[in-house]
Amino acid sequence: MSTSQRYRLRNPATGREIVLEAEPGEIYLDRDDGEALEVVGQVLPLAPSSSRLPWAVQNLRFCSWCDQLAQKDLNDCPTCGRRMEPLGPRAEAR
Ligand SMILES: [Zn+2]
Repeated sequence: MSTSQRYRLRNPATGREIVLEAEPGEIYLDRDDGEALEVVGQVLPLAPSSSRLPWAVQNLRFCSWCDQLAQKDLNDCPTCGRRMEPLGPRAEAR
């Protein structure tokens, strides 16, 4: 279980975003053009958490009980606490 908080950082010039474990107060520069990255937000879930997946669309699913978003690597919904259905093959996705 990780205790470092991850942040989403954005390069204001290019709009490129990266996720990294950042320390508050540090300045991070884009590897490509040296532009200072601005913090867009903390990556959910907040550390520490049982999920290591960043809170991003491709890592999320809808809970079959409460229709709230949950990370795909969790078995229990973080919102309602109920056990979610196993993830089916992609063909079953609506
Ligand atoms: Zn739920």
